[in-house]
Amino acid sequence: MASFTVDFLGCKVSQTDAQEIRERLVADGHLEDGAGDAEIAVVNTCCVTNEAVRKSRQAARRAARTAKRVYVTGCGANLAGDGFASLPANVTVVRLPGERTPAFVAGDVGAIGCVDANVGLDRTRAFVKVQDGCSFSCAFCVIPQVRGASRSRPAEAVLREIRRRVEQGHREVVLTGINLGCYRDRAAGFDLPGLVRAAGAIDGLERLRLSSIEVNHVSDALLDAMRETPSVSPHLHVPLQSGDDGVLQAMRRRYSAATYLRRVSLAGEFNLTTDVIVGFPAEDEAAFESTLRVVEQAGITKVHVFPYSPRPGTRTAADDPVPPAVKKERSARLRSLSAEASHRRWRSKVGGEDVVLVDRPGRGYGDDYTPWLVQAQVGALVRARAVGVSEEGVVGARV
Ligand code: SF4
Repeated sequence: MASFTVDFLGCKVSQTDAQEIRERLVADGHLEDGAGDAEIAVVNTCCVTNEAVRKSRQAARRAARTAKRVYVTGCGANLAGDGFASLPANVTVVRLPGERTPAFVAGDVGAIGCVDANVGLDRTRAFVKVQDGCSFSCAFCVIPQVRGASRSRPAEAVLREIRRRVEQGHREVVLTGINLGCYRDRAAGFDLPGLVRAAGAIDGLERLRLSSIEVNHVSDALLDAMRETPSVSPHLHVPLQSGDDGVLQAMRRRYSAATYLRRVSLAGEFNLTTDVIVGFPAEDEAAFESTLRVVEQAGITKVHVFPYSPRPGTRTAADDPVPPAVKKERSARLRSLSAEASHRRWRSKVGGEDVVLVDRPGRGYGDDYTPWLVQAQVGALVRARAVGVSEEGVVGARV
């Protein structure tokens, strides 16, 4: 038996990959060690920006100081090049797809007889991966290279995992994928709307959310499934990336700003959040201002801002003409617009009530993924009245 830690950097898919490795090690009888002196450390890495690779490398190097063996897994490990080449000798870089990584790590650590393991990363919210990879080819994106083409898990396996998470005590499940809208289980006749309906109907599941969905997949069928399934949260995270048609075209995104606006308007009552890349090669000041306008027109309440950083092997790998200072200044303007929009939404809730899932001491999320500050036990779903707003969300009092 070995003691181990599993950490991840990056997105929810990286989190679910880390969770699978963790569960596999527990199932093999190894012991998770939160005290910081584990023999085995797994670092599931991210490569979405240069900064993410740097932080991943730093995490692996830190782990190698105390652990006997370190496994570097995930997107960063699969990125072409030598991003992890200079790490100490006790570090193994695992260049395998997410589906094959847990078995490889467990095999290498050395399985030692089964225990009946039943673990969850936390007992509040579970991220359940339904799809991996992407068959789109956005000019800036390294994900199709490191994760391969889109493929989906069988619906039956997804629904089984959700039932297990509910039995473990999770209150909320987030359906997670790299390109979630591509979800298909043709043999069983499921697409994403069908999966949402089936997952949302699972006994005991109190809240179901989608992690992120491309605007091309925001369809009437999906919105109907979300609206007609009471456990589904009225929240959509729909990446915009840019609000300028020239930039969208250069990015090889598959929509125009007008299409984005038309599609998200179908989800008028949903809380809409997004990702935007700032300082893409084709972005001039006028193009950036178009993005600001579209963010406002779409009614987006929170923007995750990513200053552009060229990724190896992508179409724009050699292209980065927007000076860092300009990216910084545009990022600050967009973040400030996002903060105003968040506050506006939070203020509109004052006097109303919502059900809040408390996921950390003193804070949690309302039904539509609005952040709330409310005092209750972690893991509780509590009804709260909005009595004000703070810099971090709606201030709630339990009712
Ligand atoms: S849709 Fe585009 S940005 Fe998203 S993972 Fe696929 S290629 Fe990357």
